[in-house]
Amino acid sequence: MVELKEVELKKDKSVFGQISEYNHEKVVFCHDHETGLKAIIGIHNTVLGPALGGTRMWSYASEAEALDDVLRLSRGMTYKAAISGLNLGGGKAVIIGDAKKDKSESLMRRYGRFVKNLNGAYITAEDVGTTTKDMEYIKMETDYVAGLPEAMGGSGDPSPVTAYGTYMGMKAAAKKAYGSDSLEGKKISVQGVGHVGGYLVELLAKENAQIFITDIYEDRLRDISSKYKAKVVGMEEIYDLDVDIYSPCALGGTVNDDTINRLKCRVIAGSANNQLREESVHGPELVKKGILYAPDFLINAGGLINVYSELQGYNRESAYAQTERIYGYTLDIFELAEKEGIHTQLAATKMAEQRINSIGKVRSTF
Ligand code: NAD
Repeated sequence: MVELKEVELKKDKSVFGQISEYNHEKVVFCHDHETGLKAIIGIHNTVLGPALGGTRMWSYASEAEALDDVLRLSRGMTYKAAISGLNLGGGKAVIIGDAKKDKSESLMRRYGRFVKNLNGAYITAEDVGTTTKDMEYIKMETDYVAGLPEAMGGSGDPSPVTAYGTYMGMKAAAKKAYGSDSLEGKKISVQGVGHVGGYLVELLAKENAQIFITDIYEDRLRDISSKYKAKVVGMEEIYDLDVDIYSPCALGGTVNDDTINRLKCRVIAGSANNQLREESVHGPELVKKGILYAPDFLINAGGLINVYSELQGYNRESAYAQTERIYGYTLDIFELAEKEGIHTQLAATKMAEQRINSIGKVRSTF
């Protein structure tokens, strides 16, 4: 049984204390002296199917930080898969190390052996710090890997599909907040024009939205702004802009105590994971301010839907068609939130948990 808990947990800092608070099924610590591999695989919930989620490689400041990241991210995957109607559980893995310096073929393949030993309970894919090339190395050791290059029969870069789902969620939010899902003439700020943000801007430009962009990288800003006539703004300025929609597509936690009173938008809809710094605080505060929040794990699920499609023999059209359903799901969440008088992120979590619990019962007999 999955229990409803909002994300701000972690009162007990012991390893089992944290695993128990997040309610994980299994957490695997992987170590290999030869290659220097130190990885943690978090399998949060497999009621709906095998746990699927990317492997992140990052120079964590501490092992505790790595554990916290893998627990939080794998839990998020459970909800993302459940709410998107996929028969997948939630999992994620982290490799501790600098992706630029510490990565090697042998390290990735050794890691692949650990994934193999889980016999399909966990299927891995790309994430921050890992690439399709790394997935190829993992594939040499196990079949439990997705997100392979298109040339190898895989689904390739998930970012265009993620951007499409985010766009669908944004349109649904516009419909709810403004009475029409047209984004024509709407002032929209996009924070981070990397893989997803870049494709999102392209979709917004096609609808003649007025686009404002920010990023760390000047060359990326120059490129996107000249291609799509987007106005470049400062990295801090983005929070003070008088816009209709704010779209966080860079980092998590940007809706927080410092920014929330500066935002003038009526809608927040972006691709970043964990946009609300503290769900139980900032979710209700957005409601009070009259800002409609499109739940992140719902509207950024396009990438997962794309990878899921790969498991059944990749079909791009069907991945897009399934991603388009995010529009309807987002409207359902707004309705549930209104009916129950709760914030939208909590409504999305509840809906995901309802599906896991009800399907768990369907599968309770042989
Ligand atoms: P990316 O690294 O390609 O792009 C992120 C961009 O944000 C970069 O250009 C970076 O310079 C910029 N950035 C970083 N910090 C910034 C700041 N403080 N202000 C402004 N810009 C900043 O990543 P991506 O693949 O486009 O993913 C974007 C977000 O969406 C991430 O949070 C990711 O976890 C999430 N997401 C991505 C996918 C996917 O399919 N790629 C799927 C689900 C969720």
